[in-house]
Amino acid sequence: MTGVSAVEAGVNGYAGTGDGFEEMHILWISEGMSCDGDTVSVTAASQPAIEDVIGGLVPGLPKVHLYNKVLSPTLGGEEFLAPFRAAASGDLEPFILVIEGSVPNEKINGDGYWTSFGNDPVTGEPMTLDRWLDMLAPRAWAVVAIGTCAAYGGIHAMAGNPTGCMGLADYLGWDFRSAGGLPIVNIPGCPVQPDNFMETLTWVLYHAAGAAPPPPLDDMLRPQWLFGKTVHEGCDRAAYYEQGDFSTDYNSPKCQVKIGCWGPVVNCNVPKRGWMGGVGGCPNVGGICIACTMPGFPDKFMPFMDMPPGAHLSSALIKPYGAFIRRLRGITNITANKEPKWRHDRELLTSGYDPRWRP
Ligand code: SF4
Ligand code: SF4
Repeated sequence: MTGVSAVEAGVNGYAGTGDGFEEMHILWISEGMSCDGDTVSVTAASQPAIEDVIGGLVPGLPKVHLYNKVLSPTLGGEEFLAPFRAAASGDLEPFILVIEGSVPNEKINGDGYWTSFGNDPVTGEPMTLDRWLDMLAPRAWAVVAIGTCAAYGGIHAMAGNPTGCMGLADYLGWDFRSAGGLPIVNIPGCPVQPDNFMETLTWVLYHAAGAAPPPPLDDMLRPQWLFGKTVHEGCDRAAYYEQGDFSTDYNSPKCQVKIGCWGPVVNCNVPKRGWMGGVGGCPNVGGICIACTMPGFPDKFMPFMDMPPGAHLSSALIKPYGAFIRRLRGITNITANKEPKWRHDRELLTSGYDPRWRP
């Protein structure tokens, strides 16, 4: 595994190459093991909206041609597949390859197949996702994994699964580099937070235009600026945690760590950013964080709604401190709610003003 730091990426003082692309195709395959929830999620983006990117309303971006089955104006079939076939044979470039869903292991599919995206024109057999990846990934200017399934395997890659599912980097290799020299860009989330995806895609497009450095990624190939902080650090309920004030049911506004929240150890910006238009954000609105952005999701965080093992110790330690501080703050809060005693209408100034300063 490799990481690309902000310094390596040249964020500071980047002057731009000035020789970027004027047009970019986006080939989006959602035939991995998935629920198509990431495509649906992205329709809610507003920073920027996908319509604005496609419509050329974001200044400085290349002209974008999007091929996504849900957002396609075609009637499907061969008409929809045509740009994918053209890209596979080198007749359409440059392109960004967006993969949605995890990659099943077709070496263990028996007599069948786990995935299909069109048929082989010669044999008539289904074209599997790994075959498309083998054809398209080496030619792609950039490769983006949208959602936790594509990034790390997600729900389909749980222990006991029959498909041998994996994330894109497990299939292509963690040291994969695209034709544009970029590592895989992972934008996890189950589903992806819509603006996290569109913001990262926009950065990649600015890079393609020669107007920005590559997006800085962490060791798990996530955008550093989006996944560098924990859920807990951005949670509306964090003050309750600090005061050792924990909820015991799901109808409480207090900290949910004792009822299953993994926020203190999960990298995700959703409580800060909200979900749609700044509204929502899992623990902010009553949902425990089940760690859906994490490489170990879901196995390492189950059973959901049980108290995380580490929370027993941390909540026990903070409880006496929090109770003591909460009591002191309660006393201070009472005095802070009173006006100072010199504000009165008697014939006497008691504010402490010193008459020596009178002219
Ligand atoms: S609800 Fe979760 S993320 Fe929020 S303060 Fe409690 S433990 Fe942290
Ligand atoms: S707060 Fe937790 S459950 Fe919600 S999106 Fe982030 S990682 Fe997933």
